[in-house]
Amino acid sequence: MNSQILRVLHSKSVILIWITLLCLTGVAGLSHLKAAEAPGTTANPEQEKWKAGIATTVITPAQSMWMSGYAARTKPSEGKVHDLNAKALALEACPEPSRGDAQGARLVIVTVDLLGIPRPLRDWMEKQVKYSYKLPPENLLLNASHTHCGPVVKEMEDSIYGDSFYGLSPEQIKRSRQYMKTLQQKLLTLIGQALENLAPARLGYTHARAGFAMNRRLKTERGYVISANPDGPVDHDVPVLRIDNPDGELQAVVFGYACHNTTLSFYKFCGDYAGFAQIYLEQAHPGVTAFFVAGCGGDQNPYPRRTLDLAQQHGRALANGVEAALLWRASPIRGPIRAALETVTLDFAQPPGRQQLEKEAQSSNKYERRHAEVLLKELEQTGKIRTTYPYLVQVVQFGNDMTLVALAGEVVVDYSLRLKAELAGPTVWVAAYSNDVFGYLPSLRVLQEGGYEGGGAMRYTNLPGPFAPSVEKRVVDKVHEMVNKVRAPKSN
Ligand SMILES: [Zn+2]
Repeated sequence: MNSQILRVLHSKSVILIWITLLCLTGVAGLSHLKAAEAPGTTANPEQEKWKAGIATTVITPAQSMWMSGYAARTKPSEGKVHDLNAKALALEACPEPSRGDAQGARLVIVTVDLLGIPRPLRDWMEKQVKYSYKLPPENLLLNASHTHCGPVVKEMEDSIYGDSFYGLSPEQIKRSRQYMKTLQQKLLTLIGQALENLAPARLGYTHARAGFAMNRRLKTERGYVISANPDGPVDHDVPVLRIDNPDGELQAVVFGYACHNTTLSFYKFCGDYAGFAQIYLEQAHPGVTAFFVAGCGGDQNPYPRRTLDLAQQHGRALANGVEAALLWRASPIRGPIRAALETVTLDFAQPPGRQQLEKEAQSSNKYERRHAEVLLKELEQTGKIRTTYPYLVQVVQFGNDMTLVALAGEVVVDYSLRLKAELAGPTVWVAAYSNDVFGYLPSLRVLQEGGYEGGGAMRYTNLPGPFAPSVEKRVVDKVHEMVNKVRAPKSN
């Protein structure tokens, strides 16, 4: 063979090798794509060691009621866009006697399309579920979607919420209290049903993103105001817990997002974007129950907002985020469940003195006036103004695979960003609006910057004023302490 032929042959073999390589890469690429897009979780024997039970109930008020979230509303509700729901997901990890895990390996997550979870509701529920179902308080997680298109639920005699905050008529106050009674019973029954429905299941974690949440704290000459701030911190993560039956068929999907559920401010009952996201997911997956768990969206708003169409668009964007997460094979979540629920004492800043309060009690601003009146009354009755708040922190550990931190109140996004960065190890999911929605939990940054979430919103509560600068450290230290506890395997 002459060199010319050799060169041709050589170049041909090079081409052949290249084609072969391309095909192999192509095949590898395809198989990679196939594996990556295969929905469901891998059939890992450890994953099979779960039981899951689901129950849902409608909690739309039977009659017109005053609506919560906006003080400026001037009349009660007028119909509904869709029903408000309460949903319960019961999970049971198979006991691991070698670790000392016996019956306590259950968790019940209850989500509601409501503004918040009032502490008295939480206290009542945990007593009842312990009595009725032997579920320890630390294994019950209540989360509210923070829709501002639900009924008033925070109705306490001495609170400036309720009677005076919303200016409710005696008839509306009666309705609100009646609604709370009915709601309590409904939630108790719901939890019982979810526990009764426990059946073998697999759990998997996946996540994606949605981009409509925007930081709502804008620095101006007048200080920080609520306005879209595209440069402020956000957390666009959409964490997803999928529950499949042993055949790999999706049964339920729990998803989170850190954003105020406040596209709407009108007079119809509606779950807002979170309600629509759940509806869209349930429509796309018949038979599947979708649970929304509100994240650290205290300083995040959905933008743009204020029309039903936009609430639907944001709902669609969030549902799409969940659908995108479901495309990927979820990481297996194994048991056991180890949960903790503790209180950390948060200090308030020095409360205003009597003189200052008496001055504020003359204010032309009715909220400032009422806030001062409430504090003066407290001063008269008890001789002092409270200086601390018993803040609830819940942590749930799923084997070595996931840590769920559920914080009380309207938590600003700094907490989820910080905790996810600091809690190295398994997947970390940070929920807020859990167990006691009392007001805002600012980070030190937000506290020092001031504005609504920093302390301004306190005037709409019966709490004395901003938290002390120790607030963030106290909460974060408590979370670390609890996470260390639940992550540490029990000794045999
Ligand atoms: Zn809020």
